[in-house]
Amino acid sequence: MRERFRGVRSLAKCGVIILACVSWACGAEESTKDGYEVHDPKRPQPVVVTPGTNSTQDASGQPPSDAIVLFDGKDLSKWRADKTEKQEKAGEPDKPAAWTVAEGHLAVAAGKGNIRTNDEFRDVQLHAEFWHPTDIAGNSQGRGNSGIFFMGTYELQVLDSHNSETYADGMVGSMYGQYPPLVNASRTPGQWQTYDVIFRAPQYDGERVAKPARMTVLLNGVVVQDNVDLLGPTKHSTLTEYPKTHPEKGPIKLQDHGHPVRFRNIWLRELGANPPAAARSAKAAKKPATVGAK
Ligand code: MG
Repeated sequence: MRERFRGVRSLAKCGVIILACVSWACGAEESTKDGYEVHDPKRPQPVVVTPGTNSTQDASGQPPSDAIVLFDGKDLSKWRADKTEKQEKAGEPDKPAAWTVAEGHLAVAAGKGNIRTNDEFRDVQLHAEFWHPTDIAGNSQGRGNSGIFFMGTYELQVLDSHNSETYADGMVGSMYGQYPPLVNASRTPGQWQTYDVIFRAPQYDGERVAKPARMTVLLNGVVVQDNVDLLGPTKHSTLTEYPKTHPEKGPIKLQDHGHPVRFRNIWLRELGANPPAAARSAKAAKKPATVGAK
């Protein structure tokens, strides 16, 4: 009986070993298709980008070498007037952006409507700077309101929130109507402020959202949104949800909320997918992948 039991046990052991070998072989084959070994010298080197320079209060910095410059202080050639739904449906022709350009900045021309980029984008790193006048009037949402819309529909709020309260998910650094900022890192009016944003578009599987849109935001160098999952396109006073269909790309829009907000130094970089993780240990490879320091 004991002998029979031993036989069954060794058979089971063999089975486990065979299964492990098969799965290792499959994994190894897959890793050579899709991934690399840890420290794999065959892994392609990233593209070289010359970093930009930081802005000062007096002057805009330089964008990185691979940036798409949307506004460099000179003109609005990369922008046009945004059409309302009604204008879009009526087939009205495109019109130039009617905001004001002066002394290296762009200013909201109250009543002229939102402006949008001519080009459309998907996943981006965006840098923009904004400014509120010291003699700004109003309070809450009526104080220095504008906004930056990603894919024309996800609003990162621009507001003068220095010593000025409003609902938390509508202050500067908020994803409007969805997420308050982690902290209020706003500067005083009369000072240029910076936004650095990583936006990832939603991914759909048919009519289902496989992965929601995501945002990371630094306001004046301080993290205020940390890779949050967006609930859907921005809506006012309504809990949003994703539509069944979603465009692949969309413009960057700037909001005319009737307030004298200025912008400068607006650029973005289009982001590709993250590279896949290393799929196999160098120790498991037939030949050592690399030698050297950890
Ligand atoms: Mg706004």
